[in-house]
Formats: sequence, C-alpha cells, structure tokens
Amino acid sequence: MPELPEVETVRRGLQPFMEGATICHVAQRRPDLRSPFPPDFVQQLEGRRIAEIARRSKYLLFHLDGGPVLIAHLGMSGSFRIEMGEDEATPGVFHHERGKLAAHDHVVFDLVSAHGEAGRVVFNDPRRFGFMLFGDPTRLHEHPLLAGLGIEPTGNALDGTALNALFAGRRAPLKAALLDQRAIAGLGNIYVSEALWRAGLSPRRSAGSIASTVKPFTARTTRLATAIRDVIGDAIAAGGSSLRDYVHADGSLGYFQHSFSVYDRECEPCRRPDCGGTVSRIVQSGRSTFFCSACQH
Ligand SMILES: [Zn+2]
Repeated sequence: MPELPEVETVRRGLQPFMEGATICHVAQRRPDLRSPFPPDFVQQLEGRRIAEIARRSKYLLFHLDGGPVLIAHLGMSGSFRIEMGEDEATPGVFHHERGKLAAHDHVVFDLVSAHGEAGRVVFNDPRRFGFMLFGDPTRLHEHPLLAGLGIEPTGNALDGTALNALFAGRRAPLKAALLDQRAIAGLGNIYVSEALWRAGLSPRRSAGSIASTVKPFTARTTRLATAIRDVIGDAIAAGGSSLRDYVHADGSLGYFQHSFSVYDRECEPCRRPDCGGTVSRIVQSGRSTFFCSACQH
C-alpha cells in the first residue's frame, strides 16, 4: 500500500501538468472501484479547470473551479500515468510493481494544460481498492473521510507539545499510538518503524511513558516529533528526486526500500554507527514492527 510520502510524490508529479489544466473529456470505464463512482462523475468533471491539487493524509484533493473537490485514493495498487505525445510518466515510486495493463486503466482524463498542451492522465488500478468521490469544497474538513483525521506528519503542527498532548496517560504501545489516524494522519507501518529507530525509542513502550502529564512536552516527545517529520521529509525528497528520472520511475523499483534503516531488515546489522545491534521483527496488532533492541529503549 502506498504510504504518505509516495502519495505526496504522486501529487507533486501531477501538479506541473494538471494544475491549471482544463478537463476536456473523461472516460469512466467501470461503475465502481472500491466504491461506486458518483453518478454524475463525468458530467461534474468535463469542462472544469483544476485549480489546485492538495493532499490530506493519503487522499489527493483535486479542487475544481466552480465544482466539487475530487477526492482520490490510490488504495493498494492505484497509480496515475501522464501521457503527453511520446512521453509517458508514472509519478511516484512504489514497493510493488504497478500495473500497466490497459485493462486496468479505469479512468482516462483528457486535458489541456494551462500552457495549452494536450495530454491525458490515466488512473490504473489492478486491485481496485482505490476510489474517487466528490466532496463539498465549502465543508471539505467535515467530509466523513477527512473529519476525524489527526495532525499531518509533514508540517510544523507536529511537535513535542502536540505529541505530548496526544500521548500523556495513554497505555497503548507507542507503535499503535503512532498508527492511530485520529492522532497523526497518514503515518503508516513502514515510517512508524523508521521514526522510532531514528528517535531511539522502543515500539513496545507505552505511549504515555514518553509524555508528561504536568509539563507541556518532554525531550522524548520532541525527539520523536522531529524524527517523524525528518523520516517523512527525507522519503518525500527521495521520491521527488525519482520524479526527475521518469524512465526508471515505472513502479518496479522500490527506491525508498534502499534507504530504510530498519524496515524489512530483520536479522541485519543496525545501521546506527557503533551500535553493533541486530534488527528484530515483532508483530504488534497483526503488523510487523522492525527495531533494534540495542539502541531503542
Ligand atoms: Zn541499534
């Protein structure tokens, strides 16, 4: 499943062509993906200009001039492909190979960019766990998918004080507390392991054990907040650099995978200088957690 940095990479890959572009024609080739398309899907999109492509958690938000917001989720295997003349690009780099079969091209947007270039953007999703819905732009934050989401892990809102407020008094393991989308939105299994390693904190600790009930923040909540922002920021930067090399950004290479410190590295040596420990894997709430017990306490 694409994690937040990959979704952000997709957003940044689509922006140059799609922002300011007018949607001329939409081919919707199925009635549904994970959920049915809105009944007026094509009619609402055709003729509209895309004002902005934003993101909240792992939802891409296409703001349309004078129309609804198109809320898109990549699901397990969704990807967008930009076709302009001879060029083709799939923004985003994923761990699992992305489908290229035309049979899985479910939505095709024909567009004219702000600079007058014609092209198309194709949504391909072999497993069909992705979806596209509409939201009301004046009440977007009240949309059922978005209303309960916590802090974005990419911005300044996530700091030691915010984490302290979320975790003080909580008995849940730190790993589970970080995966709670009502606390931090869009943080997934991979980057939770990576952030805890970077912060030197054990995933088995209780969330409350790093927080204070009397002080606004602690050294540990500050360290963890910084680690989360850095891990996500580094992954987005890595994805961004892959965008410059479209030919190899076909989804078959897990670029991010090569930069993991602990994720998927069971029994391999810890990458912290002078640690000497070995990465372990445990299962928490049915999900694998990778960590080094020598340097994560
Ligand atoms: Zn270590």
